[in-house]
Amino acid sequence: MQVYLDNSATTRLDERVFEKMKPYLTEKYGNASSIHFMGEENSLTLLKAKEQIGRILNCDHSNLIFTSGATESNNMVLKGVMRSNKDPEPSSGGGNHILVSAIEHPSILETAKQLKEEGFDVEYIPVDSSGVVDLTQIKKMVRPETLLISVMAVNNEIGTIQPVETIGAFARKKGILFHTDAVQAVPYKTIDIRGWNADFLSLSAHKFNGPKGVGLAYINRRVKIRPFMAGGGQEYGLRSGTHNLPGIVGMAEALRLAYEEQDEIVKKVSELSAYFWKRIQEEIEDVQLNGDLKNRNPNNLNIMFRRIEGEAILMDLSTKGICVSTGSACSSNKLQASNILKAIGLKDNDLNSNIRFTLGKFNTKEEIDYTVGALKETVARLRSFTPLK
Ligand SMILES: *Cc1c(COP(=O)(O)O)cnc(C)c1O
Repeated sequence: MQVYLDNSATTRLDERVFEKMKPYLTEKYGNASSIHFMGEENSLTLLKAKEQIGRILNCDHSNLIFTSGATESNNMVLKGVMRSNKDPEPSSGGGNHILVSAIEHPSILETAKQLKEEGFDVEYIPVDSSGVVDLTQIKKMVRPETLLISVMAVNNEIGTIQPVETIGAFARKKGILFHTDAVQAVPYKTIDIRGWNADFLSLSAHKFNGPKGVGLAYINRRVKIRPFMAGGGQEYGLRSGTHNLPGIVGMAEALRLAYEEQDEIVKKVSELSAYFWKRIQEEIEDVQLNGDLKNRNPNNLNIMFRRIEGEAILMDLSTKGICVSTGSACSSNKLQASNILKAIGLKDNDLNSNIRFTLGKFNTKEEIDYTVGALKETVARLRSFTPLK
C-alpha cells in the first residue's frame, strides 16, 4: 500500500485539472503575448483565468501577477516593496523597517535575512505558546518607519491559523503595508483579500491539487515596485517571461474546484484527521499533539513521539510505503530543529521527536488504518532499542 500524508509539501494533481490543462500543452500552444489569432485567443484565456481567480479571492483581478510559485511571489513582494521604497522623500510613506513573523516559511525567512544583509531593519514577530502571532506584540513593534508586515495565513508545520483579519485591519489603520503568505489556506480557510485588508498575498497551485511551478502574487499596484525580472514586459512589466498558460489554466481550475468543494473537503479531512489522532492517542503511548488543537488547519497533525527520533520514524514508515515529514519539506534535508517547535516552547530533548502528517482530499479511512498499524509497529520497535533520553 502507498499512503501519501505529506500534503503540505505538495499534492497530487487533480485529474479534472489535468484535463483542463491538456489543450494548452498541445494544440493551443500559442504565446499569449503574440499578436496573431493563436496569441489573441490565449491572451483572452489568461484574462478569464485572472477574472475567475479575482472573484474567488475577492480582489481586483488587475492586481494579480502570475509567477512560478509562492517562493517567487514572496521574494517579489518583500524585496520589491523594501528595495523600491527605501530612502524615501520626507513623508512619502516609505521606510526601511519590516516585520515578519518568526514562524514563516523559509521563502520569507531567508528573504528577510537577505534584506537584513542589505541593510534593512528586519524584526521577527514572536508567537504565543500555541503558535499564534500576537497582535499586541505587533502593536509594540511598529514604528513610523515600518513599511511592511508579513504574516502567513496558516502555518505549514503545525497548521496554526493566524489572525490575518485583525493584523490587516491594524496595518491599514496605521498606513503600513500588509502581506500574507496564504499558501496553506486553500481550501481550509476562505481567502478574502479585501476583507483582510491585504496589500499583497502569495499562493502556489501545487499545494491545492494544481500543477507545480505556477503561483500568483496579489499586488497592490499603487505601491511602487521595481521589477526584478527585466524582459518582454508581461504582467504590467512586473514579471517578464512567457506566460505558463497550461499552469495558469490549471491553477484557476484547481482553485475553483477547491472552493466549490470546500465544505466536502473540510468535512472529509476533519473527520479523517480526528479519527487518526484519536486512534494514535488510544493506541500509542507518550505522544503529544504540537500546537493548538482548535485553532488549526484540519489537515495537519504534528505529533511528538517521545524518546524516538522523528527521522527514524520517517525512514521506517517510508519503507512501509507511507510518506510523512519531520517538518517542512525544505528543512527536512537538514537535521536542524524547527523554528516553530522551538517558538512554541518544546524542550531540547523533544525537538527531534516529531512527525508532521498532512492529509488531503484523496486520503481514505483504509489508508489511515494502515498507517496506524504501521506506526504502532514502528514506534514499538524503535522504542525497544532506543534508550534515548
Ligand atoms: C510550499 C510553501 C511555499 C513555497 O511555495 P512554492 O510554490 O513551492 O515555491 C511558501 N509558503 C508556504 C507556507 C508553503 O507551504
